[in-house]
Amino acid sequence: MEKKLKEGSSFGLTSTQEIQLAKNILNALTLDEQFKIRFTNNGSEAATLAVRLAQKFTNKKKIIKFQECYHGWGETFTNPSTILPANFNDLNSVKKQIQDHRGEIAALILEPFCANTGLILPRKDFLKEVEQICREEKIIFIADEVISAFRLHFGGAFRFFDIEPDLILLGKVLSQGYPFGAVIGREQILEQLTPSGELFHAGTFNGNLLSSAAANFTLDYLRDHFTELTELSQHLGETKNIKSVGTVFSLGNKSTQEHRKLFLRLLGGNILISPSPEEVAFLSLAHTKKDIESLGQCLK
Ligand code: PMP
Repeated sequence: MEKKLKEGSSFGLTSTQEIQLAKNILNALTLDEQFKIRFTNNGSEAATLAVRLAQKFTNKKKIIKFQECYHGWGETFTNPSTILPANFNDLNSVKKQIQDHRGEIAALILEPFCANTGLILPRKDFLKEVEQICREEKIIFIADEVISAFRLHFGGAFRFFDIEPDLILLGKVLSQGYPFGAVIGREQILEQLTPSGELFHAGTFNGNLLSSAAANFTLDYLRDHFTELTELSQHLGETKNIKSVGTVFSLGNKSTQEHRKLFLRLLGGNILISPSPEEVAFLSLAHTKKDIESLGQCLK
């Protein structure tokens, strides 16, 4: 990264790093060249852009969103006239919204597993059932993989769960601390964006050199070391009092008070977790088996 820093950080232009990154991502997600990518600066921008794309493509306004999922700060997600709430793992709650608002729904957005209200895994076939309803009703199916991509296997969780979203969102996981987000989808949806289409989207720092270099590096490094990470996550899965999926884990849904106690106890053992009881934690290649054992000891 030091070398890349000397090449400059942002010129407000498309760069070879950015193009390389787009190819690298499509390759990692095993998506062919019918898929296009638009870069943003974070997950919130990616989710907001995806919703606008779906609204423009379908010429409809409403979005089904699961109450257990988080997609950033975008205006859309807090606007009660746009959002139709549903409950994760409850297909009937989706069907009810479709029945009550048939012909008005542009998209359904979800996290393949919920990682912003503790850790909630999809029940068997839930994601496939949702995908099928979206197909039948011509609703754009958006998978927000800002957290889930590259955490279950090398690629998107959509491959792991065998679903085919129309739009896929990526974010922080790929750039290791540098601002980054991406919307990926088929050309007929993405081509609505300026300059080929009418939907305006711009941003000085989108796909900037530093974030693109960081994401390219991360992808290449992860590709080479994913087996190590998978082995490490198996130890995590075997540790008592931890709920995990791949490299994502939760220490249980606790009250704020209980979480505060746990936070301080772990900090005493040199382990830093999020101060929010709702947020999950992540295993990375910087961690070792010993770190997982220390965490297990602290949780006893
Ligand atoms: N989607 C999901 C699933 C997220 O977890 C987050 C952030 N926690 C976002 C979107 C928003 O991303 P950002 O904070 O980069 O705007």
